[in-house]
Amino acid sequence: MPDLDLIVRRGLVVDGTGSPGATADVGVRGGRVEAVGDLSGAGAARVIEAAGLAVTPGFIDTHAHSDGALLLDPQHENGIRQGITTEIITQDGMGFAPLSPANYRAYRMYLSGILGFPPLDLDMSSIAALRSHYHRRAVCNVAVLVPHGALRLEAAGFRDVPLRGDLLARAQSLLRDGLEQGAVGLSTGLSYYPQSYSDTEELVELCRVVADHGGVFVVHVRNHNVDRAAAGGGVAEALEIGRRSGVKVHVSHFKTAPGTAGGVDALMAPIDAAKAAGVDVTLECYPYPVGSTVPGYFLPGALHDGGPQALLARLASAEGRATAVEGLRTLFPGALATACWTHLASEANRELEGLSFADAAARRGVSVEEMVCDVMREESLACGFRYIPTDSVATWRRLDEDVMRLLARDDYMVGSDAIPHGSLPHPRAYGCFPRVLGRLRRRYGVALETLVERVTSLPARRFGLRDRGVIAPGAAADIVVFDPERFVDLATFEDPKAPPAGLSYAIVNGALAVDGERCTGVLAGEAVPAGDQAMRG
Ligand SMILES: [Zn+2]
Repeated sequence: MPDLDLIVRRGLVVDGTGSPGATADVGVRGGRVEAVGDLSGAGAARVIEAAGLAVTPGFIDTHAHSDGALLLDPQHENGIRQGITTEIITQDGMGFAPLSPANYRAYRMYLSGILGFPPLDLDMSSIAALRSHYHRRAVCNVAVLVPHGALRLEAAGFRDVPLRGDLLARAQSLLRDGLEQGAVGLSTGLSYYPQSYSDTEELVELCRVVADHGGVFVVHVRNHNVDRAAAGGGVAEALEIGRRSGVKVHVSHFKTAPGTAGGVDALMAPIDAAKAAGVDVTLECYPYPVGSTVPGYFLPGALHDGGPQALLARLASAEGRATAVEGLRTLFPGALATACWTHLASEANRELEGLSFADAAARRGVSVEEMVCDVMREESLACGFRYIPTDSVATWRRLDEDVMRLLARDDYMVGSDAIPHGSLPHPRAYGCFPRVLGRLRRRYGVALETLVERVTSLPARRFGLRDRGVIAPGAAADIVVFDPERFVDLATFEDPKAPPAGLSYAIVNGALAVDGERCTGVLAGEAVPAGDQAMRG
């Protein structure tokens, strides 16, 4: 055998397929796995001794909001230190392409609370251009979806109209281009605007295009404008879209909440019924009791009409502010009662990061709703929050147990939903994967092979990343090496940016991105799948 670039020696190789782990050497050459087995006769430029450690494919995060973060800080320590070697971005229908320069400028501002502030002068006119900004320029591989929000902006502007006729044809044409340029599907978030201006009919027509290309429809289910949704919105609408269009459906962050803890069977009943009727469904979750988003999520759709400048102008007027305050109070009652600011762009408001909404409002002597409207305006929308988790440890544990029950299913993956901004972000951006594969796996006694399959070959197959997600000769050499007894998340709600412990090495396309629990600075990530593997009908 010719000399190898790298050998990982004598580790417990858990190859991603779900097969039992076995002690073996893994040889890497030219960015690919060259051989797995006894390589004691082979030499290599670098040898990693992995006795006592697990050697698995790099993890695939099926839901990340790193679109801007990866462009600003491509080292992306928060992801790679968890062992995430591939991220699927442009989630919830939010993303930067395909957009004209004017639409990019506006949508970037609108999305800044979730996606940050990538450079303004980037070409975002196509999915191909977007992919090129990450290819060999980021620490991890990046797969993209065509974001429904961008399609709507290009077809109809930031307006509350259904896509029909020429508008629909324009959106379908952009979608088709994106899929041919390497996008792995279409994403939408039917609680965000302009996506929530759509109706089921529009989504079915878009998903027919996705189905033709073998792509995936990734959906954050609707809880806004449910009057225009089939089956009353929610997961029922998503499943109905799958049934009518024939598209593969992937449901984002679908899990129990404090009010439904223990209710996995009820949660899965409609999924299992749809699957029995022939709908092709997969899902994902993250292992935390609460989520994180932007306050605009809770404002009535009419306030968003026209885009970010129109929204800010309304928030600055007495009448618009009153409508917003009323909307925040009544649209989702109680939604902001246990929230906490995670990130605010301006120096002036930095002191609010980590403050509960109640404390921030009291400090300003206004109501919570008024405080939220004022901060959105002061920050030009570049602000985000998370919920405050229950202090009932028993409830929290039931939710953890629910996550592990979901991941016991062969249709569930892990999507971190990471929003890696500010001083006190949701800890999922730093701890999601070690929490599942370390802390919770050990607590609930789940087989390592099972969970590794859920975060490697399962998402690779689902999203058409054909040569990833397994350790086998010929596969791309995305490999992580960790101590299965010690791998653990250290990021907490109180100290959310603490890196995990126990993951010694992360290899991306054959290059060491993490070496001895330290980032190397190597940026070997690729836009995946490769151009010649783009999905086709
Ligand atoms: Zn999300």
